[in-house]
Amino acid sequence: MQITLLHHTPLIVCANAIRTCWQSFDKSDNGGEKDQALIDRVGNKFKHASTLEHLVYTFYIQGISRALLQELARHRMASLSVKSTRYTLKELKNEAPFTTEDIQRAAKYLVFTDEEMVNAMSIRALENLRQVMVSGISNDKAKYCLPESYKTELTWTINARSLQNFISLRSDKSALWEIRELALALYDHLPEDHKYLFTDFLKVSHP
Ligand SMILES: Cc1cc2nc3c(=O)[nH]c(=O)nc-3n(C[C@H](O)[C@H](O)[C@H](O)COP(=O)(O)OP(=O)(O)OC[C@H]3O[C@@H](n4cnc5c(N)ncnc54)[C@H](O)[C@@H]3O)c2cc1C
Repeated sequence: MQITLLHHTPLIVCANAIRTCWQSFDKSDNGGEKDQALIDRVGNKFKHASTLEHLVYTFYIQGISRALLQELARHRMASLSVKSTRYTLKELKNEAPFTTEDIQRAAKYLVFTDEEMVNAMSIRALENLRQVMVSGISNDKAKYCLPESYKTELTWTINARSLQNFISLRSDKSALWEIRELALALYDHLPEDHKYLFTDFLKVSHP
């Protein structure tokens, strides 16, 4: 998977939102150490967590499976715009037939696991889908035989409070392996000066 952080809110916006409550703007150090400590104290320790909603992150996430997508979509406090199979399945039409040996070529379309047999069956499903597309059946019907391993991509916007919840639930060892990888990758792609707000929510030790 590939993650790109497209946009984020500077910490000063959240610090100012907090300082609105006390009208203590004169104590700000413009998003520096004092403001950072304030955000952690109020947002995390005092549990005035709605203040963290002023921090918003927009990620471009590529190369995840539709199996992961349906879990990601359960996180209601986030906004998604997803590559549509209805409009893009034609990408398969010009491909030569796939055999189970075509791992590299199929990897453009499929997320593979560490189970060879699962991967081979995914490639077979991909070839079935290709044949359906070549036969001229519409995308709206063809998409019903997509394998869950089919790759997708999306723009995902989430605020810091909801991202803390996401990282806490999905970095845990009980989460699906691929969404766990995503949770850690999202953490890695956060701006360095924001990471401290999320570190305590990681459920695995992560450098
Ligand atoms: C290990 C694991 C296994 C799972 N297994 C399954 C499964 O088998 N089947 C399945 O269907 N789902 C499963 N889920 C998904 C899970 O039930 C949640 O839908 C998902 O994790 C999103 O969490 P959330 O509701 O906290 O996040 P969000 O939807 O982003 O909500 C964020 C927070 O907002 C608040 N909130 C949101 N909506 C409401 C509401 N309607 N009422 C009150 N408060 C609200 C809650 O505090 C919530 O924590 C699993 C999740 C995990 C981590």
